Amino acid sequence: MTEKPTSRQLPVTRYDHGRDELTELLGDLPKYRVEQVWQGLYKDLVSPDEISTLPKNLREELRASLPAALRQDVRSVGDHGETIKWLWRLTDDALIETVLMHYQKRSTVCISSQVGCAMGCGFCATGQMGFDRHLTAGEMVEQVIRAQQEAGDRRVSNVVFMGMGEPLANFDRTWTAVERLHGDLGLSARHITVSTVGMVPGILRMAEEALPVNLAVSLHAANDDLRDELVPINQRWPLAELADACRVHFDRTGRRLSLEWALIADVNDQPVDAQQLASFARSLGAHINLIPLNPTPGWPSQGSSPEQVRKFAEHLTNLGANATIRRTRGTEIDAACGQLRSTRIERPRVAVDLPSRSERPTNPPE
Ligand code: SAH
Ligand code: SF4
Repeated sequence: MTEKPTSRQLPVTRYDHGRDELTELLGDLPKYRVEQVWQGLYKDLVSPDEISTLPKNLREELRASLPAALRQDVRSVGDHGETIKWLWRLTDDALIETVLMHYQKRSTVCISSQVGCAMGCGFCATGQMGFDRHLTAGEMVEQVIRAQQEAGDRRVSNVVFMGMGEPLANFDRTWTAVERLHGDLGLSARHITVSTVGMVPGILRMAEEALPVNLAVSLHAANDDLRDELVPINQRWPLAELADACRVHFDRTGRRLSLEWALIADVNDQPVDAQQLASFARSLGAHINLIPLNPTPGWPSQGSSPEQVRKFAEHLTNLGANATIRRTRGTEIDAACGQLRSTRIERPRVAVDLPSRSERPTNPPE
């Protein structure tokens, strides 16, 4: 699969090195020192200058040769401390987002895979920004590390690639990150989910990989006319081809497919939409996740009302499909894909009586 070329050179930061690369990079050091560095980065999750088993001068050196990828620009907390969202500034000043969500029995981190996105879904804040650059594997892994540092004793057991960007348009780096999360951080493959808008070649590549991670497809429409409009990539890989690829992935991995459906008032929340979705999902044995569309600055449509969401879910269930309504998280802190970044970069997106930009605190209240 061809990947969109990036004219800029991508940064190399501390989690761009796995065990073998670290050994090579630190070639002058004895083996046990390399092991201490690796332990510090991947087991104790500390920065090189905090690895207490190393002599001070070495820690200083490592701080320069193993720089951090992420600097916190904004950290906001919602849902009574159960949702934490970051806007990170990368080494080239690009901005990306990460969201940590605590649930009763698990903690999940939602990470970004690109700065912006080239797929052009009109309803998506990230799509509205356009594509800037790919993230490196290290920039993806460090988002998980930062989330785990924040979570403390609560283990971040689940990772979803549902932040900014299309992970399968950045396949190699995404997969390196997946392998590092599994091999170096010890996450189980069944707790890792890659979400795609429907890039068929990428889905087929996932099916070939040794690690059977979960696949989520952002469907939003189950007829080609509407999907061509909502999700332009459908013009390239229409529903029938997408379904075939999903079937291959299921046959190879045994992982149940998830279908994401953002409910848009009067666009894809009617009985006929439920019928089309139910038959698509049933034919693939897929699970459906429903979420009302979050409003974004560049898209006029509204999310469906809670009553309509409930009705739609009930309709799906009556048709024999398996659907759950996803609890929206962090809506008060702009925790939908790309939204914190757009509020920060452009202007307040709500036309209410807000204080002027200069009067607003840099960090949202916690
Ligand atoms: N590019 C990948 C992963 C990132 S988007 C993909 O599209 O799957 C993560 C999820 O957020 C997708 O399901 C996407 O459709 C959804 N999404 C984007 N904008 C949204 C919005 N305004 N409201 C609700 N969900 C949205
Ligand atoms: Fe990209 Fe996913 Fe947003 Fe579409 S929904 S523009 S693929 S991030």
